[in-house]
Amino acid sequence: MLKLANYIGGQFAPAASGGWLEDFEPATGRMYARTPDSHKTDMDNAVAAAQRAFPAWSATPAVERGEWLHKLAALVERDLEKLARAESTDSGKPIALARSVDIPRAVANLRFFAAAAGQFASESHAMESGAINYTLRSPLGVVGCISPWNLPLYLFTWKLAPALAAGNCVVVKPSELTPMTAYLFAELCLEAGFPAGVLNVVHGLGPKAGTVLVEHPAVKAISFTGGTRTGADIAARAAPKFKKLSLELGGKNPTLVFADCDFGRTVQESVRAAFSNQGEICLCGSRILIERDLYARFRDAFVAHIRALRLGDPLEESTEQGAVISEAHLQKVLGYIELAKKEGGKILCGGRRARLDGRCADGWFTEPTVIENLPYDCRTNQEEIFGPVVTLIPFDTEDEAVAWANGTPYGLAASLWSRDTSRCHRIAARLEAGLIWVNCWMLRDLRVPMGGVKQSGTGREGGWEAMRFFTEARNVCVKYE
Ligand code: NAD
Repeated sequence: MLKLANYIGGQFAPAASGGWLEDFEPATGRMYARTPDSHKTDMDNAVAAAQRAFPAWSATPAVERGEWLHKLAALVERDLEKLARAESTDSGKPIALARSVDIPRAVANLRFFAAAAGQFASESHAMESGAINYTLRSPLGVVGCISPWNLPLYLFTWKLAPALAAGNCVVVKPSELTPMTAYLFAELCLEAGFPAGVLNVVHGLGPKAGTVLVEHPAVKAISFTGGTRTGADIAARAAPKFKKLSLELGGKNPTLVFADCDFGRTVQESVRAAFSNQGEICLCGSRILIERDLYARFRDAFVAHIRALRLGDPLEESTEQGAVISEAHLQKVLGYIELAKKEGGKILCGGRRARLDGRCADGWFTEPTVIENLPYDCRTNQEEIFGPVVTLIPFDTEDEAVAWANGTPYGLAASLWSRDTSRCHRIAARLEAGLIWVNCWMLRDLRVPMGGVKQSGTGREGGWEAMRFFTEARNVCVKYE
């Protein structure tokens, strides 16, 4: 049985308590590794190691910090195949997706912020009255990053890369459900000779290890990605300590389809938007609002595509739909399908647990499910399911589409499909979402602000936003004669 370890002060160690958590392979439903069940001592050790490393790391020239990130990127790229397999095994996602999206994006995150390290500049503001202001941006010190299970290495690196680039020392708590690639990344740090204590990885449960990190007095900022309820708990703990907070939370994203869209592309891309990674991407479009004139044609073509999706062993090259993350999550998704039925929904395809043969016989698979006949304000259309379940909703007017798109507590992302450019701009300006895609979905430029409004979070990641988050601004005003 594989035993993972924490990475603290440049060394691997089990949890101080000797406790272990079980790590399951979703495709088989079987435990295949153990993860340290860390608590206060481990977190204290990690924070202390980060504090010790901070003076030297923050004094390292920014370009050199960037070179370290480039070195790590090259190692991740070298191990792409191994990491993709590990990610697929640990999370249930199709290996083709891990190979084409997750791991390449981790490399891109490291390279992007490696470059940002050397290019980050401070502002200056001259005053006509004979003074000049310049703003110093210094690293915060020790920062905490907490990442979820749906895009494990992708989001782990998305957080630690800007934090390190800006000169901070970092303690990361990866999801206990997908600890493997964070562990393998720590091995690469060791191989690279990355300075001890600059990056520390502490595994364990959110309410145990995560809470200690959030409340630790020496941790200056928390960058968190995960569920909205967890985000609220973190905010409540961090606020009295006046920590900087970046919260990237849940979503219930609308896909708006107008009758004048490019039909073939819209169907194809809305399938991808709904079911990529089994619908377990915060940006997935899980409510598809369709202009009534196009509704029947769109529905039939959409459902035909879903029926053709290849569900199977995530380690098979041809698999398009893998397993969901856990037994508990499988039950949650199935529970929502039952709720949808009670709310009057009609299941157009899917709707059940999928049973596979062979090694995946006990795996956690759900049939990709499409539901219609539900009002926009029922629970199924309001709450985040975060699985392979999507609803189709016809609308009559642009105002109705916008009102329903905005009519949830969330506001993370939206996509909009129409050939009418004026309409696209008009609607984009009215949507309550942090990320709006027009005639595309999940087209990512790492420079743009990434984050949500309403219950989808506060703060923005990406580009200079992330570099600013991980630094403290101090303004110096100089009067001259
Ligand atoms: P989660 O909130 O259960 O867990 C996320 C992380 O927080 C894990 O590492 C977990 O151990 C830790 N955690 C849990 N409770 C904690 C606590 N009380 N204090 C500190 N840490 C704690 O979320 P999840 O189930 O891993 O991820 C799925 C959620 O993440 C979905 O809601 C999804 O929409 C959201 N998500 C958002 C984005 C985004 O960019 N907005 C991206 C990916 C996922």
